[in-house]
Amino acid sequence: MTPVSDDVHFGVAGIPHTCSGNSFLKAISCLASLDLDALELAFVHGLNLSQETAGQLKMEASQHGVKLSAHAPYFINLNAEDQGQKMRSQELLLNSLRLAAAAGASDLVFHAGYYGRKTPGDTYSQIKDSLKDILSISRLERIPVRLRIETMGKRQQFGSLDEVLLLCRELDGLLPCLDFAHILAREGKINSYRDFCQVLKKVEKKLGPRALSKAHIHISGVIFNQRGEIKHINLDESEFCYDEWLQAIIETGLKGTIIVESPSLEVDALRLKGLYHNLKEKGTCTGLGRDNHDFLDTE
Ligand SMILES: [Zn+2]
Repeated sequence: MTPVSDDVHFGVAGIPHTCSGNSFLKAISCLASLDLDALELAFVHGLNLSQETAGQLKMEASQHGVKLSAHAPYFINLNAEDQGQKMRSQELLLNSLRLAAAAGASDLVFHAGYYGRKTPGDTYSQIKDSLKDILSISRLERIPVRLRIETMGKRQQFGSLDEVLLLCRELDGLLPCLDFAHILAREGKINSYRDFCQVLKKVEKKLGPRALSKAHIHISGVIFNQRGEIKHINLDESEFCYDEWLQAIIETGLKGTIIVESPSLEVDALRLKGLYHNLKEKGTCTGLGRDNHDFLDTE
């Protein structure tokens, strides 16, 4: 096994296809044997993991040098009209944090919710208030997991890049999960070396250098229409310029975890990891592609 880079960890969301046995526990050693070193535990359909298994995952991951993160259930909506549903969403997010901690995950990614019939401004305030409570309980309980709000690909979902960055700036303890497939799908652009560099520089400008030295990123191919994301596809089947994206990642000196969410999972993760190291060996790159300054230069 070649030594893994300490700077950037490459991994997948869920259980790799080539791993036998449908369990996260087996997925950890399997990922390590594939030369990948990050796994995002999918709690996306519910928190179906016992405390005992969580403890085993923590041990197994530390033995194999695999970095764990987790993804909270999809049905969380911190902007739900129904108060009961909103409270259940808060509780579920808190329980996801607790379970992630038990499993030794350093980060928990979540989708904040939908605008529904509310304006983006009202949605922002509602979600901000909810998260303020969750973060203060997490601090009180000393849960050692970073809470990461994801940039979302469908326009009906809260989570444009600007919304996510503003919320992270305003709430102490909240960090972004930058999903570049979602950013492309939502904006219908942001697909060149220069665009990617500008997104990353914007993140650094709004949140400080730590946002890039401890980044958490989702990536995949994507198809989309004017309403945003339709679905994730494999990198080679999509128009996403992943070579230029990797050049931007290298150029900005980003460190952290890159989680691949293509249907092919480990195939694309290994493709990106290989290309990342090739490009890094070759040295720096030049600006390529088209510009989208109108989107990126907004304050
Ligand atoms: Zn997600």
